[in-house]
Amino acid sequence: SIVDRLSVPHRGPVPFSVEFLPPRDADAEVRLWRAVRTFERLGPAFVSMTYGAGGSTRDRTVRIAGDLATQTTLLPVAHLTAVNHSVDELRALVGAYADKGITNILALRGDPPGDPLGEWTKHPEGVEYAEELVRLIGDLGDFHVGVASFPEGHHRAIDLDHDTRTLVGKLRAGAEYSITQMFFDVDDFLRLRDRVHRADPEQGGKPLIPGIMPITSLATVRRMAELSGSVIPDDVQERFAAAAGDGAEENREAVRAVGIDFATEMAQRLIAEGVPCLHFCSLNFAKATSEVLERLGVDARSAMPAASH
Ligand code: FAD
Repeated sequence: SIVDRLSVPHRGPVPFSVEFLPPRDADAEVRLWRAVRTFERLGPAFVSMTYGAGGSTRDRTVRIAGDLATQTTLLPVAHLTAVNHSVDELRALVGAYADKGITNILALRGDPPGDPLGEWTKHPEGVEYAEELVRLIGDLGDFHVGVASFPEGHHRAIDLDHDTRTLVGKLRAGAEYSITQMFFDVDDFLRLRDRVHRADPEQGGKPLIPGIMPITSLATVRRMAELSGSVIPDDVQERFAAAAGDGAEENREAVRAVGIDFATEMAQRLIAEGVPCLHFCSLNFAKATSEVLERLGVDARSAMPAASH
């Protein structure tokens, strides 16, 4: 399980993990596998594969998560969302993961397809909240379930206390750890950690894994922040804007360099704060994340041993 993997003694500064997306087409799949092989040499604690909004990307998530389990030395975590699925379908999907040797699942509610910030409607025979999905998976067998957490609070939460109760509820329902939404202010992460500890010290002892996305272009960061509802603090925006310059064309090299610096600084502070793992949203590219890892002193010599599935 992920918790077991995170308790293996490691030689590097901190364990890390990588999130991949289901590729859109054959070319994107080639690129994904190139990134997978690059990260494999660095020995991540686990890798995760997100679950798409519908149709073929969903099938690809199941297929590729299975390939990660059988064709690599990596420990895959398959994401699963409740969007447009009946309980029967969710059960069948968990079974499909199990058939491929996947027992680590990240249980999510998901967002309304099309407009992530739009109105949520549950499938008539589905589940309303991620907590129900955690229980459903737990009832199906020997699975290890993780959930999402939100340093700035989930955009639908009434307030931060409500958001904390949601997370604690998912952990009490059996989730073994959580991975956060990407964020840009380490203090938000630390405040979330404190809130969970205060609300329930036992659940607060479970790994809270920070999600980091190295920013390589202003457009990407704006789009990702819009989709997730994350806020980019003004001083961070200014730092990137200064690097981009005021010419008609964004100074892409300078933006990228600031992005690598910024992600490295965040990671260093998180390591000093004792986080159990750093989870990198790679967008299926290895280069930026590898550069950050190199700056942190993570290399093939500090790699974790291969996972036994
Ligand atoms: P929940 O925990 O169900 O919470 C949803 C909302 O309901 C929150 O506002 C919460 O406060 C509220 N709530 C929960 N329980 C109750 C209750 N009992 N009473 C009242 N209100 C309640 N999306 C994808 O589509 N595919 C992915 O692969 C994917 N991977 C992700 C990975 C990570 C690490 C993260 C952080 C997010 C990911 N998402 C993914 C996005 C996620 O699905 C959305 O952020 C979604 O809006 C929230 O999902 P959740 O599992 O946190 O939902």
